[in-house]
Amino acid sequence: MTTQHDLAIVGLGIVGASVAYAAARAGARIVALDAGAPGEGTSGTSFAWLNAARKEPEVYHRLNADGMAAHRELARELGGDAGHHPGGSLEWAEGDEQERELRARVERLARRGYPAEWISRERARALEPALVVGDHVREVALYAAEAWLDAPRLIRALLRAASACGAVIRERAPVRSLRARGGRVEALVADDGEVTAGSLVVCVGPSTQAFVAPLGVRVPVGRVPGLLAVTSPPAQPLRRVVHAPGIHLRPDAGGGLLLGAEDVDAPAAEARSPSRLDELAALLLERAAHVVPAARGVKVVDRRVGVRPMPADRHTIAGRLPGFDNIWVVATHSGVTLGPLLGRLITDEVVGGAPHPSLAPFRPDRFVY
Ligand SMILES: Cc1cc2nc3c(=O)[nH]c(=O)nc-3n(C[C@H](O)[C@H](O)[C@H](O)COP(=O)(O)OP(=O)(O)OC[C@H]3O[C@@H](n4cnc5c(N)ncnc54)[C@H](O)[C@@H]3O)c2cc1C
Repeated sequence: MTTQHDLAIVGLGIVGASVAYAAARAGARIVALDAGAPGEGTSGTSFAWLNAARKEPEVYHRLNADGMAAHRELARELGGDAGHHPGGSLEWAEGDEQERELRARVERLARRGYPAEWISRERARALEPALVVGDHVREVALYAAEAWLDAPRLIRALLRAASACGAVIRERAPVRSLRARGGRVEALVADDGEVTAGSLVVCVGPSTQAFVAPLGVRVPVGRVPGLLAVTSPPAQPLRRVVHAPGIHLRPDAGGGLLLGAEDVDAPAAEARSPSRLDELAALLLERAAHVVPAARGVKVVDRRVGVRPMPADRHTIAGRLPGFDNIWVVATHSGVTLGPLLGRLITDEVVGGAPHPSLAPFRPDRFVY
């Protein structure tokens, strides 16, 4: 059998598109397939906040901080076409325990050299005139290096750049199975026949576990749904990511607001009808109106349930699939923050033969026992 491609990539969310970009630029002949349209999986239904603020332990925090730096580099490389919206993020808490937790986090992050500081309520208002912060809140945390991402836009830009380097991108081309023998994958089975390549990188997000199971390997990646609501544009726009008690919000690429709340994700996952999801989206809007009064004049125009790929220990899985010479897997929560970095590191390893020490704690073989 002749090998037509050096590398095949399955799955074109932010992770697969980032691998395709890095590998094509490194000179690899690649073919990349997605079951649907690239970016329509979890990456298109993500809050897409680029951060390392809530990432513990420190080794995982560092990986995410490197992920933020990789986005800044990519934005320079792609010359404004990267969907990267810098400006930092703001957070405040209510209640003694929550405030204590936030103070400890800001202190811990600042000690690590991560831009995290307290600013006055007045300064927060000056930065973000659309916000109302209650009189009882004295200070607001500012994480100046954080950003949000228009992920579908970046995915399109990455794939355009990869195609320009000769990558073959195939949409609506589900990979049905893998033909493997003696610890190597020999071919990917698609609807119109087999695809052969020297190596394979599996980037199928929440489908990871089901995709690799027929190979007899355990890569424990759960599926954790989350609800996001999109509104029509408010009269006064929001500029950056805001975490307020009971609600997180940011500008949406369409000019509206994107809303979410951690405690609403579980009821959304259990919702049995579209009207229940509408109710939950209305609840998000009601909460948003307490912190952004202009949200009183907007409507929910869309609500989406995205499915997080959640590794069993919540940390990135990136590396060679145990028992296979030429299959790599990347599955992660925080994949929007981490995608470009992981794309580059996995390319260095698969194409350049240079494993990076920062991935050592995140190898898939930690689940082999
Ligand atoms: C509500 C919510 C909020 C989030 N907030 C943040 C956040 O603020 N910051 C952050 O960094 N992360 C956040 N995340 C997590 C982040 O969105 C994900 O980690 C990331 O999108 C995963 O990207 P991916 O490329 O691995 O997966 P996906 O984007 O799901 O891409 C996988 C692709 O694989 C394709 N595929 C699957 N099976 C096959 C097959 N057999 N053949 C071919 N193709 C296949 C799918 O079609 C899909 O396009 C959030 C997630 C959710 C749901």
